[in-house]
Amino acid sequence: MSQDFRIVKCRPDIGPAIDLDERHFRHAADFLPAPVVYCDWSLIFRYANPTAAQWLGKPLEKIIGHPMSEVLIPGRPELSAPRHKSVLDGKNLTLEETRLCGDGKVRHVRLDYVPDFDDGGNVVGFFVLLTDLTKQRNAEAKATHTYQQLKLIVDAVPAMIAYCDRDSRYVVVNQTMADWFHTDTRDLIGKTPWDLYGRDMVDEIAPSVTKVLSGQRVDYECTRQYPNGQARVVNTTLIPDTDSDGIVIGYFVMVTDITERKLAEEKLTTLAYKDSLTGVTNRHRFAEVCADEIARSQRYQHPLSLAVCDLDHFKCVNDNHGHDVGDIVLKEFSNICVEVARHQIDRIARLGGEEFVILLPETSMDGGRILAERLRQQCDEHVFDAMQNALRVTVIIGITEWRQDETNMEAALKRADVALYTAKNDGRNRVVAG
Ligand code: GH3
Ligand code: MG
Ligand code: MG
Repeated sequence: MSQDFRIVKCRPDIGPAIDLDERHFRHAADFLPAPVVYCDWSLIFRYANPTAAQWLGKPLEKIIGHPMSEVLIPGRPELSAPRHKSVLDGKNLTLEETRLCGDGKVRHVRLDYVPDFDDGGNVVGFFVLLTDLTKQRNAEAKATHTYQQLKLIVDAVPAMIAYCDRDSRYVVVNQTMADWFHTDTRDLIGKTPWDLYGRDMVDEIAPSVTKVLSGQRVDYECTRQYPNGQARVVNTTLIPDTDSDGIVIGYFVMVTDITERKLAEEKLTTLAYKDSLTGVTNRHRFAEVCADEIARSQRYQHPLSLAVCDLDHFKCVNDNHGHDVGDIVLKEFSNICVEVARHQIDRIARLGGEEFVILLPETSMDGGRILAERLRQQCDEHVFDAMQNALRVTVIIGITEWRQDETNMEAALKRADVALYTAKNDGRNRVVAG
């Protein structure tokens, strides 16, 4: 097999040439796992290594000494005149293309065209070195596809997801975050949380950032104002991102809107603790509040009193004006209780029907009697709005003070009930202590 094989001249700036002859290079090229060919100026193959022969799908004897146009499949891009003109003009050329090879395989390849000069500086041929980039490109395409799939999911999650660098600058943000800030994802990149939430948030945010940058996960709840003017209760999670040496290089941010959940929880609490008609504490909750106050009064030896109220002839209100009017009277009476009682100290509850109770911490019998009398008087003077009918309703109040040995509400409630009975028998619209 005779091949015309030339060696590209060494560049003088590389240093002293190693004394290798043509035989060494041919040997190396023959064993290269990548195709190498050499063509002369008339585009006739003068050298091809075994890998090139394999790619071309032809034995070496059908390649060497034959013109490109005969060896290559007609219409192949390597037959194109511009690239040959360029390399025969003495220019190095690098191209990438996807091609069907002579062995039937489709490959993504890089082609390096290297001109070969004679001693007079004339181009006498060129080398073509082929690198198979198929695996690399497939891996890149797969990574891009995976990234796009992940992005699709992350963008669709109804939570703000972002990644910040060590300077707390957003590097990646999802679509939800852009939506919350009424902007485009690109406008958020490079910004910091204080750029978005305002400088006055630094004190609130900084401790969490310090903690996550020290490698700890952070979880907290807070209320935040977003550009659409709506305040949201949000749950924020910060997760540190570390490099292979364990050094924190940034952190992930996940913010979930829990406003609806909080409202639902508040609603449930209200349902569990409040009387649905009047909004005051219900009987069940009153028992708990009472137990706490009794324990406190005993611990500190402070007085604690109780006023039980019962509207007079309430059944008549229902019978004469209808149940709706009865409801209005109950609501208005509870409002009078709220007005008379001490804000955030006394606890008002509806025990059921037209019976209410007021727990009076730090209050002796005498103090309770004063408050009860004021309540009775206000009720007596109040004109209830009975759907255009002015209505007057009176109340009886039984008042009692806790005794040292009473650890629950039963005995005190019983005494107040007895006092109520007396008040009713004595002519109603009055306060009786028991
Ligand atoms: P007394 O003067 O002896 O206390 O009699 P009263 O009519 O005030 O009390 P009674 O216990 O005889 O009747 C209470 C009525 O309250 C009967 C019941 O239908 C009515 N009632 C109970 N709960 C409600 C309510 O939520 N709304 C209304 N409108 N009426 C209620
Ligand atoms: Mg009653
Ligand atoms: Mg009554």
